[in-house]
Amino acid sequence: MPQIETNTIARVVVDIALDREFEYRIPDSLNDSVHAGSQVVVPFGRSKRDGFVVALSGHAQHADLKEIESVVGEKPLVGESLLELSRWIGRYYCAPIEQAVRCVLPAAVRARDVSFREQLFVTLDPAAQSDAFVDALRKRAPKQATVIEILKSHGGMFLQELCRQAGTTAAVVQALRTKGAVQAGTRTVRRRPEMDREILPTAPLDLMGAQKEALDMIRTSMDTGTPPAVLLHGVTGSGKTEVYLQAIEYALSQDGGAIVLVPEIALTPQTVERFAARFGDRIAVLHSHLSEGERHDEWHRIHDREACIAIGARSAVFAPIHNLKLIVVDEEHDSSYKQEEAPRYNARDVAVMRGAREPCAVVLGSATPALESYRNAKSDKYGLAILPARVDNQKMPHMEVVDMRVEAQRNDGKPCAFSKRLIDAIHDRLAKAEQTMLFLNRRGYASSFMCPQCGYVAGCGNCSVSMTCHTQDDTLKCHMCGDVRKLPERCPECGDSAYRMAGIGTQRVETIVGKLFPKARVQRMDSDSTTAKNSHQKILGKFRTGHIDILVGTQMIAKGLHFPNVTLIGVIYADMGLHMPDFRAGERTFQLLTQVAGRAGRGEIPGLVIVQTYTPFHPAIQAARRLDFPGFYDQEIEFRKELSYPPFTRLVCVTLRSRSAERASFLAEALAKAIEPLLPKAAIMAGPAPAPIEKARGYYRFQIILRSSAVKKMVDAVRTAVGNTKWPSDVTYAIDVDATSLL
Ligand code: ADP
Ligand code: ZN
Repeated sequence: MPQIETNTIARVVVDIALDREFEYRIPDSLNDSVHAGSQVVVPFGRSKRDGFVVALSGHAQHADLKEIESVVGEKPLVGESLLELSRWIGRYYCAPIEQAVRCVLPAAVRARDVSFREQLFVTLDPAAQSDAFVDALRKRAPKQATVIEILKSHGGMFLQELCRQAGTTAAVVQALRTKGAVQAGTRTVRRRPEMDREILPTAPLDLMGAQKEALDMIRTSMDTGTPPAVLLHGVTGSGKTEVYLQAIEYALSQDGGAIVLVPEIALTPQTVERFAARFGDRIAVLHSHLSEGERHDEWHRIHDREACIAIGARSAVFAPIHNLKLIVVDEEHDSSYKQEEAPRYNARDVAVMRGAREPCAVVLGSATPALESYRNAKSDKYGLAILPARVDNQKMPHMEVVDMRVEAQRNDGKPCAFSKRLIDAIHDRLAKAEQTMLFLNRRGYASSFMCPQCGYVAGCGNCSVSMTCHTQDDTLKCHMCGDVRKLPERCPECGDSAYRMAGIGTQRVETIVGKLFPKARVQRMDSDSTTAKNSHQKILGKFRTGHIDILVGTQMIAKGLHFPNVTLIGVIYADMGLHMPDFRAGERTFQLLTQVAGRAGRGEIPGLVIVQTYTPFHPAIQAARRLDFPGFYDQEIEFRKELSYPPFTRLVCVTLRSRSAERASFLAEALAKAIEPLLPKAAIMAGPAPAPIEKARGYYRFQIILRSSAVKKMVDAVRTAVGNTKWPSDVTYAIDVDATSLL
């Protein structure tokens, strides 16, 4: 690289929390080996530190620079464009640079103690190939002969596998080695995440008209850079995945690579298999359930160009794919793309930004696009491709809304969990041996423990939320901080034993279903019932093979699953998220109902979705009933515009936390005063005010919420004010740009 000669200075981020880049001189001896992206060891204070070169330059801004001590590894770990992306993340999301750099360089790769696994690899000496040799051996040492025969048919093998196949020990192989019949040397083995079954390869399908148009648009984007991103809007089962697969194939045909992002919860072996069935070993999988070793090896398979397609959750957007041509973000509206700790990036937005810089095409797919994305598509910033119907003209499920207020009247004014309509429909499905899914987005038995005598409600001591009752192990649990208490036998305040468990969770639904349908095989799936390793897969396997009639679950069952025999879905309480103090509550409810509906009727029989609600005329519920995304969008976008909410503005949420409410409140006031004069014109500042959940995990939380269309200036204002504040050790802050959760 010729530029090295003039670039004698390296800008280095040191692997400890200091929001700075440091300059180091590159000694002549290292001239050829230090690049942007290199991992290095540098003197720092009195010690030595691991660092990471983020840029090279010809001029130093400081005098008397220290020299880089050594370089780790031969090749730089990441390229220039990923480094640029991490710097953008630092700036845009207001995060320290070394945190942003950590995104592009995962811990498993940075850590020195995770490394390649070396094992003995055994090969056959040519002299031992002859039949005569094997024949002679078989009489005296039959085990050795077996080893030789296996090697003859395989060419070479890792020692461990060889011993396993030959049913023998390493000593036998060693004896052969001493004779000179085999050789052994170390080789790197890749730790690969396991697939549970053999994958049968698939071939590309003939695309339908709408799929073809979508693929054409994506190809054009890949070839010309226009449109910079394509929003692929299509209901579940409309053939989006087939479009992704063929778009990837096109990228590969151009000697390029691709990244596929899916929400963590949908990253099941089922999803991965569809990609592996088309592309085999060219796939690398990256997600949080891998061991450190597996993650390290998958990353290096990409880095060393053994794999050219990365599929994974949020963090896979940083995969170092060579000649990246395409990024697919499936379920682009999903909130799991937002990282809830610094740097608080949204992988969908990072994908679009990476696409512009790389450059490469970006496909955002969803049945219920985020309002932000749909608006970008409507205003021609993105291309819009629509898959209007399910493949094979399968009918969309029929959605029925049941007014639970009317049900309660029938029930002497008492609210009930199951409407007559839903009960009848389940009976009908049981009689026909079809399957039912019941959905409720709250786990546990009851949402609170209360005493009707004195009004006592069991609350968490650390958080301002009520404790959820879990009758399985007779406990009260805080779903915020995880605190657990024994379920009291009587009211701890007044001693009355006539306490009530109010509200409903999946566990209670399971109990009621058991009573209503004693013959049915019922299974619950939520994070309480899937703590054991693979229990998730086991339950789904049982359901798929027809060993479960009714599956009760939280949002864990709402996404990405395909079960053709499910013809009924019951949404127990659709209002659950609707009354959250969050401007996206309606959007989330619409998305969830549409998602859930997508699980029904994927086989021959059209599905029925029964939505139970106390607010049947809410626009989100009505639009979901009509499966009408554009209608929902038109209505919701008006509301956002009127109140200057995203996508008409960007939103920054600054949260201050302290064990003392007064301290948090006091500093929040001071910070708000400091921010206000720096804000761009027409910016809106709300607060400081206590967060909707004021106390969480023992900390009081105060929020300042800022909205403006001039996001850079707004973020600068916050950064400056935060930088000018003297932070005492008992108050911490978090800056969340484009916040998705305001609780
Ligand atoms: P989505 O990703 O939108 O949920 P999929 O790509 O999974 O949709 O498609 C749904 C089903 O239709 C899958 O079983 C898929 O194999 C099938 N399919 C998709 N496209 C076609 C096509 N062009 N011809 C025939 N079958 C298709
Ligand atoms: Zn708590």
